[in-house]
Amino acid sequence: MTTKWTIASLLCKKSFLLLIAISSATMYGCTVNPATGQSQFTALLPASSEAKVGAAEHAKIEAQFGKFMTGPIADYVNQVGQRVAANTERKDVQYKFYVLDTPLVNAFALPGGYTYFSRGLLTLANSEAELAGVIGHEIGHITARHAASRMSQGMVAGIGAAVIGTVAGGSAGQVASLGSNLYISSYSRGQETQSDELGIRYLARAGYDPSGMSTFLSSLDAQSKLEAKEAGKNGSSFNYFSTHPLTAKRVQDSRVEAAKYPANNNKARAAYLNKINGLVYGDSPDQGFAKGNRFYHPALDFTFSVPKGAKITNGATKVTARHPNGTAIIFDTGKGRSTDPVNYIRNEWLKGGQVGGAEAITVHGKPAATTVFGGNIQGKSVAVRLVAVQWAPNTYYRFQMAIPSGVGKAFEEELKQTTYSLRKMSSGEKKSIQAKKIRVLVAPSGSTVSSMAARMNVDGNKVEHFLVLNGMTSGQQVIAGQPYKIVL
Ligand SMILES: [Zn+2]
Repeated sequence: MTTKWTIASLLCKKSFLLLIAISSATMYGCTVNPATGQSQFTALLPASSEAKVGAAEHAKIEAQFGKFMTGPIADYVNQVGQRVAANTERKDVQYKFYVLDTPLVNAFALPGGYTYFSRGLLTLANSEAELAGVIGHEIGHITARHAASRMSQGMVAGIGAAVIGTVAGGSAGQVASLGSNLYISSYSRGQETQSDELGIRYLARAGYDPSGMSTFLSSLDAQSKLEAKEAGKNGSSFNYFSTHPLTAKRVQDSRVEAAKYPANNNKARAAYLNKINGLVYGDSPDQGFAKGNRFYHPALDFTFSVPKGAKITNGATKVTARHPNGTAIIFDTGKGRSTDPVNYIRNEWLKGGQVGGAEAITVHGKPAATTVFGGNIQGKSVAVRLVAVQWAPNTYYRFQMAIPSGVGKAFEEELKQTTYSLRKMSSGEKKSIQAKKIRVLVAPSGSTVSSMAARMNVDGNKVEHFLVLNGMTSGQQVIAGQPYKIVL
């Protein structure tokens, strides 16, 4: 039992006394949570309010991530989700399951029954039991009322403000994972452990192999290590681990927990692999993606490059690039009424704020404007350069560059090239860019890990990627006649 639960229990005792004092039975007070068996003080957030909070936050998640995935894969996740949800203690919640079209491995839940699972998570999982385990974990946060009890204690105040702060604070690389960051990071380690335990309980009740939780966590652990190894220390993209710490311990704990339930071999592995066969792996052309120092957006038909060495991060509403010398570039789009880009910068983008003259330029035949002024970011003086390109009559494509002093003339020249690199994609570029997809192959006889891995279309070590993708450890052999995931 953690300190937080102790605080909750203390609160409960107090409110009981209060209730006795005014002897009113109609007020909210302490309730015993049917999932955890613990007393919770829920005066400020009854189930109906949870649903309201969830609906409001859900709208923000949708705005941040863009549209949710639809079609067979979304239907399938919902179907597995409802099966798990039917085995939980809280029937006052309507559970809803959404699939986010992002390559990041991520899952999170909101009060009121809203749960989210990323495409990256689906491509990593190896069986329906593993998916059901993750679903059970997220539902566990809801049934145990983790967010609700923290909200009641006033610990998750000002979520809207936090969202704005995160965006304005410039950690735009995390925009795509904003919602998750806020919610998951607000759970304590004790709450995570409790959710793992509840997830395993629901997994077992729903008729799945209860070890699905630990095998999925083990895949997460391996994936995180491989990512960290390949990205070096600057692998800044969000993943499950930054907020779900100590995965190795969770793997071990959930193994022990699963052993308390009757053994059940129902993993539904082949059925699961069949469902995710053909799912996009990694970046999706619909979302745009980076290749080296160039960003492509086939769906919106544009591309631009950034100086060599800058790391591009694609968010739902903007693209950011950071160079080791401290330069940050943000690319996004804006609606504008002005037909003159100079006016647009001065009166709409900067809303009439003080700025020196903006200069009219032309970028690949499109009218554009640019201006530069001095600024200060975290105590360091920078030059801020703004560029607005009139892409369509009322649409501006924009660069914001924060350039620390002393980057040198050559680098400034490279940044200038970034501005002038913005253009439509060539037909050759469009043809050459195709999404990578998960393909499920039955291993022919005589197959080895290296013969299967050789077919993988990935950057980096094919064998390591094959093993992680299939939840295998090094030294494990492929079994002829069994299905395996590869990336094509
Ligand atoms: Zn969690």
